[in-house]
Amino acid sequence: MALDADTKQQLSQYLELLESDIVLEANLAEDDNSSKVRDFLEEIAAMSERISLEAKALSRVPSFRIAQKGRQSGVEFAGLPLGHEFTSFILALLQVSGRPPKVEADIIERIKAIDSPLHFETYVSLTCHNCPDVVQAFNIMAILNPNVSHTMVEGGMFEAEVKEKGIMSVPTVYLNGQEFTSGRATIEQLLEKISGPLSQEDFADKGVYDVLVVGGGPAGSSAAVYAARKGIKTGLLAETFGGQVLETVGIENMIGTPYIEGPQLMAQVEEHVKKYPVDIMKAQKAKALRKNDLIEVELENGALLKAKTAILSLGAKWRNINVPGEEEFRNKGVTYCPHCDGPLFEGQKVAVIGGGNSGLEAAIDLAGLASHVYVLEFLPDLKADQILQERAQALSNISILTNVATKAIVGSDHVEGLDYVDRASNQEHHLDLSGVFIQIGLVPNTKWLTDSDLALNSKGEIITDKQGATNISGVFAAGDCTDSAYKQIIIAMGSGATAALGAFDYLIRQS
Ligand SMILES: Cc1cc2nc3c(=O)[nH]c(=O)nc-3n(C[C@H](O)[C@H](O)[C@H](O)COP(=O)(O)OP(=O)(O)OC[C@H]3O[C@@H](n4cnc5c(N)ncnc54)[C@H](O)[C@@H]3O)c2cc1C
Repeated sequence: MALDADTKQQLSQYLELLESDIVLEANLAEDDNSSKVRDFLEEIAAMSERISLEAKALSRVPSFRIAQKGRQSGVEFAGLPLGHEFTSFILALLQVSGRPPKVEADIIERIKAIDSPLHFETYVSLTCHNCPDVVQAFNIMAILNPNVSHTMVEGGMFEAEVKEKGIMSVPTVYLNGQEFTSGRATIEQLLEKISGPLSQEDFADKGVYDVLVVGGGPAGSSAAVYAARKGIKTGLLAETFGGQVLETVGIENMIGTPYIEGPQLMAQVEEHVKKYPVDIMKAQKAKALRKNDLIEVELENGALLKAKTAILSLGAKWRNINVPGEEEFRNKGVTYCPHCDGPLFEGQKVAVIGGGNSGLEAAIDLAGLASHVYVLEFLPDLKADQILQERAQALSNISILTNVATKAIVGSDHVEGLDYVDRASNQEHHLDLSGVFIQIGLVPNTKWLTDSDLALNSKGEIITDKQGATNISGVFAAGDCTDSAYKQIIIAMGSGATAALGAFDYLIRQS
């Protein structure tokens, strides 16, 4: 039995929502993996009279397609869609049956406009929390447009294929047999990659916002809700709606919600923002900020947005180590996401660079999969909490190297090793490895503002006052991109609210 009692209970409620009869068209053999998939599909089919199971020749064994009875389908799963992909499977069942996917009308229009045949394959691991967004986005495209087809490939069951293709990071997507993209992406970002970016004309009639929020993480979302609730014209521009929280598996410090997963929290936050008339512009990146009579935010596609006030809630991103090999081997053994990519390094040697909390959490997590984990810390002592240090030291397959500087990540077409210097003796050393997980903290997303008049501190953080105001009148800032003492979701949400109230106070004092 693949599913536990709780999951079956929840699933049976979803299956009642099926809008038409569904056929699971499966290509199975007599091997172990096929029997696992057969058990899973038989279990699902037994749960609803609307679902039947049929044999079908497909390119991979074991794999199956989800089709509406009597219709062609482009939604295929190779391997078992369990773990983080179980939701993708349920959504695919419901959407193939005719339940409309939750996407905006303009996105549906852009999907329907795809006029050439595109076959996507997304390689995933079942522990990857960044993979379902990509799988679900391509499934939606395949459901809405017969020119598009999509197969989710579970890396564990198709290990040989993953190795042969040299995939070392998930999700990795192939289009018509060629590598297309890798890493987390939203449906808007994927569409932009398929059909090109929105043009300047798409932004021509936006008018003047009372508040333009730049950034769609906890800080920006909270700022947008607070601004819109004042009845003023609010826009929200975000490269990736959800921000860092999408990278967080379990959140246990959202007061009032003892446990929630990051993507689920931000889906709820997005629903909340959409309850108000906020003009959300996703997959758009700001590249310049100017203050003339109005505040002007220029987008990467050249479009210009104008506003009476702006709230910068730009968050932060993983810090690079900036050594030779880091860029060259990105997604070829160099990674920043232990939860996503850990399973690809099962039985292999890996290094974690960084001995802070995230570094040691990653090392403990990886020690359950990798044959050996080296932790490299630049300083003489680890910076992680004592409890994490003790846990890591108790694991026999973790070696902790302190006071060492990584010099280079080396390899041929993927990572094969790492060179480091012992800072006390100045001696060079080499480690043979397959993967390097970089966990050395975050940098604020403010590089594009260094040429503006905005005051930043030495860390590149935007300097704000108690109202969230910056040195430029009418420009406010909130969350992790500011010089706030602590960087947490609830703090970012609070500072977003402060900045919106600060912007509203500013607006009512203008003539
Ligand atoms: C792995 C991990 C685990 C964490 N766990 C927790 C936890 O358990 N609890 C907790 O409270 N906190 C946790 N945090 C911290 C928390 O996620 C952050 O404090 C919070 O997300 C900050 O919110 P923010 O809105 O300021 O920034 P972000 O969440 O980083 O959002 C920034 C937004 O700005 C957008 N953006 C950036 N630049 C541009 C641009 N030029 N143009 C347009 N848009 C732009 C981004 O796309 C994004 O939408 C964790 C962080 C990480 C990385």
